[in-house]
Amino acid sequence: MTFARESLMCAAPMATILPSPPKIGMVSLGCPKNLVDSERILTKLRADGYAMSPDYAGADVVLVNTCGFLDSAKEESLEAIGEAMAENGRVIVTGCMGKEAETIRARFPNVLAITGAHQYEDVVGAVYDAAPMPPSAFLNLVPERDLKLTPRHYSYLKISEGCNHRCSFCIIPSLRGDLVSRRPDAILREAEKLIAAGTKELLVISQDTSAYGVDIKHQPRPWKGEDVRAHMTDLSRELGKLGAWVRLHYVYPYPHVDHVIPLMAEGLVLPYLDIPFQHASRPVLRAMKRPANEAKILDRIRNWRVIEPDIAIRSTFVVGFPGETEDDFKYLMDWLEEARLDRVGAFRFEPVEGAAANDLPDPVREEIKEERYARLMELTARISAEKLQAKIGRTLDVIIDEVDEEGGATGRSKADAPEIDGTVLLRDAEGLKQGDIVRVEIEDADEHDLFGVPVGG
Ligand code: SF4
Repeated sequence: MTFARESLMCAAPMATILPSPPKIGMVSLGCPKNLVDSERILTKLRADGYAMSPDYAGADVVLVNTCGFLDSAKEESLEAIGEAMAENGRVIVTGCMGKEAETIRARFPNVLAITGAHQYEDVVGAVYDAAPMPPSAFLNLVPERDLKLTPRHYSYLKISEGCNHRCSFCIIPSLRGDLVSRRPDAILREAEKLIAAGTKELLVISQDTSAYGVDIKHQPRPWKGEDVRAHMTDLSRELGKLGAWVRLHYVYPYPHVDHVIPLMAEGLVLPYLDIPFQHASRPVLRAMKRPANEAKILDRIRNWRVIEPDIAIRSTFVVGFPGETEDDFKYLMDWLEEARLDRVGAFRFEPVEGAAANDLPDPVREEIKEERYARLMELTARISAEKLQAKIGRTLDVIIDEVDEEGGATGRSKADAPEIDGTVLLRDAEGLKQGDIVRVEIEDADEHDLFGVPVGG
């Protein structure tokens, strides 16, 4: 019988013409926590078969993930929505400003949809409505790993959402609700996956990292044959065992933070703590509704430095908070002189709509805020310069963020978080690539950065 054979020979392979999937553009504003939300939204959309557009022109719909922390951040969010409307016109707004849908609608009546922070299903649903996926079994592809907006060699790892504190200048709890912690095994699994995909540095984030697990009563979960509690110390230790750098951000100074310092000395966690102290003067801290135990904190910092002499402490402060007197400010300056923090960021107080602090008496005049801000920045820049000078001649581990074509590279030591801290600028760095961790001899320093040369292969 030749029929079957003929049939086989004549059957030309059928080409399947796939419909093009809709393309999504994303503008992500605000803090790293928002960036993680953007990654989650994009991961879900990618898993549903959507494609990504790197520009406005190619996008079928643009998502703007907004920040509403400060009034200036809100204005930036509104500007970003305006730009997306002008450049593309098909815009979905999500994130913290979703709570202010009326303000957004008043300025941009034609936005397609507005959803709030963490309403992943609502955002994704709005995309389905605005840019429906053409029916095709081939388009619903599940990507091998989550999409990331950061470079491959470092990743933010969100361990909880929301906050149980009620700092009077902050509206995050009203935007994001009370603390909700993730399960430790789920966090560790995600960390392991990120490391397998090339992450060398995990940046642990939340609104309040040291409160991790309080809401779920630190309930343990099995992980690799052992029970791991939903607790900052246990989680940090287990993350440290995975072999990547582990950096802790947004740590509220509870007493149990002391237990993490030995993990730094053991090399499991980077000797780095990001603790937003906000102020040092007791009356101001009380008005902020923050713990007022600044003297004890100085003692604790001293002890931390005994256990781990290389610990780098980063913090932020608010100047010009309502009721802040010159004496309060001088107290803060003296405290900073004594604490000798490694990295300091400062904000001039600005009222945020809905924050309790707006109703406090004795607002500080703008020119006084400016003058205090300048004094604080001058002091902390001097301390930073002195601390960096002391590193000249030492050899430090540096992770490479970028290499240039002239044989130089930019990296960070264990004391530098990406985007917010200083860098280490390398000469004679030929052959290095992004994500390499190398030994670098420090040759020079300025107020914020170090300069060095790789040593020893
Ligand atoms: S701890 Fe942080 S997130 Fe929580 S209320 Fe205070 S400033 Fe806001």
